Amino acid sequence: MPVSININGVITAAEDAKISVFDHGLLFGDSVYETLRTYNGKPFLFSRHFARLEHSAGGIDLQLPWTRSQTMDEIRRTLLSVGPTDRISSVHRFAASSEPAGPPPPPSVECRIRLLITRGIGEVSADTETCTDPAAIIIVVPLIAPPARIYSDGVDVVVSSVCRSGRFADIKTGSLIHQVIARREANAKGAYEAIMLTGEDKLSDGITSNIYMVRDGKLLTPARGAAIVEGITRRVVLDLAREMGLDVVEGFFDIADIARADEMFLTSTTREVVPIARVEGAPVGSGKPGPVTLMLFEAYRSAIDRLAGED
Ligand code: PLP
Repeated sequence: MPVSININGVITAAEDAKISVFDHGLLFGDSVYETLRTYNGKPFLFSRHFARLEHSAGGIDLQLPWTRSQTMDEIRRTLLSVGPTDRISSVHRFAASSEPAGPPPPPSVECRIRLLITRGIGEVSADTETCTDPAAIIIVVPLIAPPARIYSDGVDVVVSSVCRSGRFADIKTGSLIHQVIARREANAKGAYEAIMLTGEDKLSDGITSNIYMVRDGKLLTPARGAAIVEGITRRVVLDLAREMGLDVVEGFFDIADIARADEMFLTSTTREVVPIARVEGAPVGSGKPGPVTLMLFEAYRSAIDRLAGED
């Protein structure tokens, strides 16, 4: 299975990939990132991910070291240089860590790509002026396909005690302690995901996903102002929903709205469209994946080939 690491254009095996302890990405979480995946070995919707990376970098005033086309070239080079995985079982475990416990699914040939830009090496001080050059890191690991049962049965989700809010909510920075704590809470309750709320108790995102409800045939999802990250998958799914004639409402919703939902699902790059069966143990609608969710799941899968033609 494929694994490869690229640090500032130098491709190495995982055990040889090293960054400085003075990198501000490590010291302060001062970095931005994207998670991409491949279909048929090709990075999916790269330009959309790069545009979001630019947005994130702009949000923390970080200069990206590579242009869009350099970044694409480096990702391609890294994908091409993948090697055997028996050397990097710890990386493999990391890739699978957000999946629920159970027998490992069969390996897939597809890859998960983490593209990370850090502020680079500086002093042990939050002063970014001490940093010279940003560092670019690409981590390619096998994409562990989610177990088929999450799509057939739906997943359990809880509501996190951790809030998403503030001016950095819509950008993807390496300061991810909120997600880490929410993940720990979800694990402790045996849940697949956790819904996070805004400071005003409105529904926001999952830990690394966007959240949707279906009510009376309408598709409801937290608006951009609800401290969400605008998911690349979200944009595709909302476009597909509108093409199908569904009413899409991007708005501000309360926890109480969950009890009124007929269906719920979540989306992310690596998991696509995942039905939510229960929230905090209470069934959503029938407690089974609903017809609108399944329709969007199918539409998303069918759109992949067309979208894979995009740069
Ligand atoms: N919301 C948050 C907070 C995320 O971190 C992510 C992805 O990591 C998403 C939503 C889903 O985004 P995408 O569909 O681009 O994977």
